[in-house]
Amino acid sequence: MKRKANVNTDLCVACGCCVKVCPKSAISVPDGVFAVVDSTLCVGCGKCAKECPASVIDIVGVHDEK
Ligand code: SF4
Ligand code: SF4
Repeated sequence: MKRKANVNTDLCVACGCCVKVCPKSAISVPDGVFAVVDSTLCVGCGKCAKECPASVIDIVGVHDEK
């Protein structure tokens, strides 16, 4: 099972802090409303979750896509 970032989009304040720290450029705030994770790029490192001032990012286990 891989680990990926998951954003609680209802609570995200679109500050962009997560975007700056992601080593894989896997998270973005494309519409300026909430952060979106590209699960094909995210490696589940947790840096974004640590940085998020609103604590709305969880690192969750996901089954490999087939
Ligand atoms: S868990 Fe790591 S790779 Fe995934 S979005 Fe967050 S900072 Fe980027
Ligand atoms: S750091 Fe947290 S609140 Fe800020 S854009 Fe990322 S997910 Fe949203």
